[in-house]
Amino acid sequence: IFGEQRKNSAGINIDIESEWRPFSESIQTFRQHQWQAGPIVNGEILTGETLAITAPYDRREAVGSVVFANAEQVEKAISVAAEAYPSWSQLPAAERAQSISRLGDLLEAHTGELVALCHREAGKTIQDSIDEIREAVDFCRFYAAQAATDFAEPKQVIGFDGTTKLLSYQGRGVFACISPWNFPLAIFLGQVSAALAAGNTVIAKPAEQTSLIAFRAIELMLEAGVPAGVIQFVPGTGAEVGASLTSDPRIAGVAFTGSTETAQRINRTLAARDCEPAAFIAETGGQNAMIVDSTALPEQVVRDVVRSAFASAGQRCSALRVLFVQEDIADRITALIKGAMAELSVGRPELHSTDVGPVIDAGAREKLLTHIESLKNQAKVVAQAELGEACLHGDFVAPTAFEIGSIEMLKNENFGPILHIVRFKASELEQVIDQINNTGFGLTMGIHSRNERTYCHIERRARVGNCYINRDQVGAVVGVQPFGGQGLSGTGPKAGGPHYLYHFTKDVFNA
Ligand code: GLU
Repeated sequence: IFGEQRKNSAGINIDIESEWRPFSESIQTFRQHQWQAGPIVNGEILTGETLAITAPYDRREAVGSVVFANAEQVEKAISVAAEAYPSWSQLPAAERAQSISRLGDLLEAHTGELVALCHREAGKTIQDSIDEIREAVDFCRFYAAQAATDFAEPKQVIGFDGTTKLLSYQGRGVFACISPWNFPLAIFLGQVSAALAAGNTVIAKPAEQTSLIAFRAIELMLEAGVPAGVIQFVPGTGAEVGASLTSDPRIAGVAFTGSTETAQRINRTLAARDCEPAAFIAETGGQNAMIVDSTALPEQVVRDVVRSAFASAGQRCSALRVLFVQEDIADRITALIKGAMAELSVGRPELHSTDVGPVIDAGAREKLLTHIESLKNQAKVVAQAELGEACLHGDFVAPTAFEIGSIEMLKNENFGPILHIVRFKASELEQVIDQINNTGFGLTMGIHSRNERTYCHIERRARVGNCYINRDQVGAVVGVQPFGGQGLSGTGPKAGGPHYLYHFTKDVFNA
């Protein structure tokens, strides 16, 4: 399981009948299931006022209920984690890694339940839900494997006098992990498993929309052998639970994935504390572009555009938002995009045939619809997918493509299935790259060109974390495509890459 032997989880191939059938039966078992979640402090599930959770694709469907942590429970969680820190950090790294890796096995063993939960609570399609569980497993095994190898022994450094000195890596203390709803298991566990493997104790605060799946993950983590003092779970809102965590001087570090505004707010809160500065790892939004020149293969472009912009209902921070198409082929490309969008099936995410499910909640839907309405007055609608009757009771947004005059018309990230297309002349390529860089974001970029000089040039000039050439720009694979941005898109280091774990540690040199 460790080191070179590590393999990514295989998942389930839903197109192979013999894999799909038994798996779909196991999901069926959880079709009506109601999950309950609440704060877990020192291994104990705490009670309080319950909030009902319903399915994003049909608000009449109950999924379960959650108890949010109150101020006193958050306080208790921090003190338990602080107390547990010294002994956890002193365990051999391989021992810490063992229980995290075992969690990967438990997640795989519970794939049916977790897929059902992911799709009912977060509204993800079955394929996206399978990918979600797989990615969570990969994160656990990847960070566990790396901690077990890299932190097994201190690194040897040769001193001035030729003698060997030691550089060792230790946890920083109590880490707060604040995670998003769009990858409610994968990013949630990616942060938590890295923080734990590096020797920290953890307070995990999931996005309030997806507390149930995060709760199940913590139950499985305890079952996998992570000690009760080491992992605390405090569901709740950012304004309450998030703010009490980040303002507390006992928090030694924060791992956050979410919006740029929230990252900036956390940064200010951390800075205002009168104590040791905290480590801050933030992965935030993007205004991700794709540049397509006239040498690109139109059919391939359209396939990759549709996936990058509309898969997961556009609710990936990597998703394509602004497509720049060279004028010479723009009519052809927009006609093909229109055709492809007419084929998109938007609806209930449990159906094999569904391409695009709902957005996360009514608030997200309202914001996206407001953006669509305001653009209708200023831009041309290229295509809008149909919303069928199946969408009546859920929070759906029809995938929409606009042709706009300039990327400068877009002030914010629009986190949903909305694509903006901008035409450019060959002579304007440098301006296009400047405009993309000037957004200040720098997460993903796609390039479609068969001219090596062109794509190498764009790639060199673009200030983005992940650049993808002649393919789609979503779905980075753990350990293979380290993922994370720069500028307004995040602090780095890249998740699923070789440096992530180190940012959860302090290094100590013994001369
Ligand atoms: N890692 C994901 C991807 O490559 C995106 C993560 C996110 O949306 O935060 O698509």
